Amino acid sequence: MCNLKQFEFWFVAGSQDLYGEETLRKAADHARIMAEGFNADPLIPGAVALKPVARSPGEIRRLFEEANAAAFCAGIITWMHTFSPSKMWIGGLGINKKPILHLHTQFNRDIPWADIDMDFMNLNQSAHGDREHGYIYARMRLKRKVVAGFWQETEVRRRIAVWMRAAAARHDGLRSTVLRLGDNMREVAVTEGDKVEAQIKFGWQVNTWGIGDLAERFKSVSDGEAEKLVEEYEAAYDLAPELRNPGPKRTAVTEQAKIEIALAGMLDAEHAGAFTTTFEDLKGLPQLPGLACQRLMEKGYGFGAEGDWKQSMLVRAAKVMATGLPGGVSFMEDYTYHFEPGREAALGAHMLEVCPSIAVGKPRIEVHPLGIGGKADPARMVFDAAPGPAILATLIDLGDRFRMIVNEIETVKIENNMPCLPVARALWKPYPTMRDAAESWIIAGGAHHSVYSSALSAEYFRDWAEMSAIEFVLIDRDTKPARLRDELRWGEAYWSGRRF
Ligand code: MN
Repeated sequence: MCNLKQFEFWFVAGSQDLYGEETLRKAADHARIMAEGFNADPLIPGAVALKPVARSPGEIRRLFEEANAAAFCAGIITWMHTFSPSKMWIGGLGINKKPILHLHTQFNRDIPWADIDMDFMNLNQSAHGDREHGYIYARMRLKRKVVAGFWQETEVRRRIAVWMRAAAARHDGLRSTVLRLGDNMREVAVTEGDKVEAQIKFGWQVNTWGIGDLAERFKSVSDGEAEKLVEEYEAAYDLAPELRNPGPKRTAVTEQAKIEIALAGMLDAEHAGAFTTTFEDLKGLPQLPGLACQRLMEKGYGFGAEGDWKQSMLVRAAKVMATGLPGGVSFMEDYTYHFEPGREAALGAHMLEVCPSIAVGKPRIEVHPLGIGGKADPARMVFDAAPGPAILATLIDLGDRFRMIVNEIETVKIENNMPCLPVARALWKPYPTMRDAAESWIIAGGAHHSVYSSALSAEYFRDWAEMSAIEFVLIDRDTKPARLRDELRWGEAYWSGRRF
């Protein structure tokens, strides 16, 4: 549902008038060739828009004024081709509102050993020009990503691509709404949070709509319309045998189809990219939306259960970041543990709402009772998550700031049949070990709800957190819980009273 080429990334080479027209023309040529190279590379997801070589304080300030006003500009890449004195950049950088990537590279890969002279040295000065440029970001305490290396290298392109995807998600968030159906689950703390601060930090408008509005729309969906959607389900997924013919179980599927149509209509009408539901507020609906939520997540909407708008917004951000990448993104919950020595693992699932984009094989639609909420038996998709590297990311509100916690995990193949478990599930081994990962997550205050992704690495979330000026905590192969506890304490001093 998202075309990343709609996002423009402005590419600006910096220089100064001192060098004369001949050198500046060469600088412009080099920048053009690089921009063309980026745009021709399928690894680069956004559209690189080349800007004139920046040579004076006035030009630089105008560039950032234009970028701030440009609706499709999702970020700016700066690179100092030659030496561009950084006082010239203070005015522009001071007003900049867009994510920045400082690309530290050089047009020529190799030193031309036999021919090198002072003309070459004066034209290829990024090695010191970018140091002057890096200083002013550090001096002004500005958020940015620094990517160093030769511009044609795959690793450099990959890291630019990660940043672009994070910037696209941020850009999407600045124009998005989380549609909340009902409040968060009664008495639950971690799904609460400051919605005003969330809008200031992430752009997301977190607003509420009555469940009655959805129930009205649900009632107005015709049986024929719903049956047509169920035929779509039959083509895309397996249906349990008892669902293939008319009867109460088939009706349960048709009801979820009606909920899906009603919800999609509502999201569309409100221009919302994400939504929440809660089993405590379903008046007028026959079932808890299960299959409907799974389908809408699969289409790219963010979702959070029990009113968890923070994870819903993060699911949406991850969906935008993962556009077109292999693997999937889902709302997730740490559910239960396997503590057998040597085979420790966590089983993640939810009551119903896990996205089929993370499935291995074809999901199967089943109808089973739900022991919570007091509604009719809901239809849901059941599947195992595909094995392989994945991550869990969560967003919590600490009162004075948001903290993002990311854990690298390895999802494993589920070897045991679980015939009595009627929900989608993922079995994973967290890094560094289950014990240390769980201790670290708990020390950091990580929620039971998270975003699960087999498409994204921690780097995407780090970049997104940097752009959003929030705290980022990584639990990976090198994490030691005692050390992490100390780092979190130092972080308290860094974040205390800080307003970005
Ligand atoms: Mn939950």
